[in-house]
Amino acid sequence: MSLEALKALLGPQGYIDEPRDMAPYLTEWRDRWHGDTPLVARPADTTQVAEVLAHCDRHGLKVVPQGGHTGLCGGAMPHAGAGEIVLSLGRMTRVRAVDPEGYAMTLEAGCTLAQAQATAREADRLFPLSLASEGSAQVGGVLSTNAGGNAVLRYGNARDLVLGLEVVLADGRVWDGLRSLRKDNTGYDLKQLFVGSEGTLGVITAAVLKLFPALKQQETALTAVPDPAAAVRLLTLAKEASGDRVTSFELMPRRGMEFVVRHMEGCRDPLAEPSPWYVLIDLGTAATGDDLAEAMQALLETALERGLITDAALAQSVAQRRDLWRLRESLSESQKYEGGSIKHDVSVPIARIPEFIRRANAVVEHRLPGIRPVPFGHMGDGNIHYNLDQPREMDRQALLDRWDEISLLVHDIVIGLGGSVSAEHGVGQLKVDEIARYKSGVEMELMSRLKRCLDPKGTLNPGKVVKP
Ligand SMILES: Cc1cc2nc3c(=O)[nH]c(=O)nc-3n(C[C@H](O)[C@H](O)[C@H](O)COP(=O)(O)OP(=O)(O)OC[C@H]3O[C@@H](n4cnc5c(N)ncnc54)[C@H](O)[C@@H]3O)c2cc1C
Repeated sequence: MSLEALKALLGPQGYIDEPRDMAPYLTEWRDRWHGDTPLVARPADTTQVAEVLAHCDRHGLKVVPQGGHTGLCGGAMPHAGAGEIVLSLGRMTRVRAVDPEGYAMTLEAGCTLAQAQATAREADRLFPLSLASEGSAQVGGVLSTNAGGNAVLRYGNARDLVLGLEVVLADGRVWDGLRSLRKDNTGYDLKQLFVGSEGTLGVITAAVLKLFPALKQQETALTAVPDPAAAVRLLTLAKEASGDRVTSFELMPRRGMEFVVRHMEGCRDPLAEPSPWYVLIDLGTAATGDDLAEAMQALLETALERGLITDAALAQSVAQRRDLWRLRESLSESQKYEGGSIKHDVSVPIARIPEFIRRANAVVEHRLPGIRPVPFGHMGDGNIHYNLDQPREMDRQALLDRWDEISLLVHDIVIGLGGSVSAEHGVGQLKVDEIARYKSGVEMELMSRLKRCLDPKGTLNPGKVVKP
């Protein structure tokens, strides 16, 4: 009965209930999470989102907000057999305002990240958030997961890039917090409550995002480094030598490079000799001129002299830059072709990354001989994707069955080093128990109270982030 009422308020364009047409909303990138739903609601505007939530809250229907469905923790997937409604923001793609002088733009939640970047570019501005999933990930999704990506080192996470939000609360009321102010100390910063809350506290329908001057010079180099400790010293040198103009600093192991070259079309080994580790360095500036090229050159020479790198490939054109970045961005996908893998998205203080990799490798190799660690990622942010590929002879499922056991070993080391078990992908369904294990009782209680305060009936995204 209440489903029929929902359909009536959304109109024929505003929902999908044919199983075949709903399938894309129930399929996720890694095929790890499976679920079902009686209805995918596709509201056209904030008013309809508010009506859907008011209706569901009143009638005890549970709602799972969904953006591009590129999240990696099962946050946007409804539970099987639970009758949860998927609320897709995909139709809300309006650019409401662009203010180049105020360095801000207001976009609806369903705009993709790529669309946000293009909107900024058209105004000769930069929206710096950048992820391999940017063609599908949406503004609402990247804010709800506080996404990181390739330029956090310079510009911060999604949290640092938002000035204001419009949010529909669980009971259907709309909070209009679409302010573009840089300074506003009038009490609690409510928008930051919703950023990173993974659809459990409210549905983001629009956002005011920060813009920056467009980059006029960019330099990219793929460097061969002997080990992660040298990479840490290289990061310090890169910041000093470039006048703090490092935008990305990405670590890759040789094994990861081999996967990419083996499986991804058009990817070639960029250096003459194999190296145990690689770092992709991006420098960028909004200033014109050619001093950035000199800064990169000087950085590479000094790094060579000091033994921090053994070789480097410097991009000479936009196409070469793209090719170097493709090596890094294809790494996740290339792992699919090597069988199953247990993945971790962790952060530790940057100086402790070498210790983390050494200790974690030793522990997992001891527990599961033949396992193939592939630690890579946003080293400049202390964020390592510590992925473990199956031993060659092992059955894929046999490895995946040991996910919890192996993750516990890795995460205990991370916590011991003062790190986090979810650096950028969030909690979703994947890490609900883990955060309860590692966060203090006080922290978990505060989170539960916030959830109850903003969503007393548990309408929004049940079972994600905090358990009822
Ligand atoms: C190839 C690949 C590379 C990636 N690289 C990175 C990376 O470098 N850094 C990084 O941080 N992440 C990365 N991710 C993860 C993912 O892309 C991000 O988490 C992204 O922010 C999710 O956006 P989405 O629109 O797809 O959200 P979804 O997956 O649809 O949803 C994610 C969560 O947000 C909630 N949600 C979605 N929209 C809203 C809304 N409007 N209001 C309230 N809640 C909402 C959902 O309920 C869910 O809990 C990557 C993923 C892939 C597949």
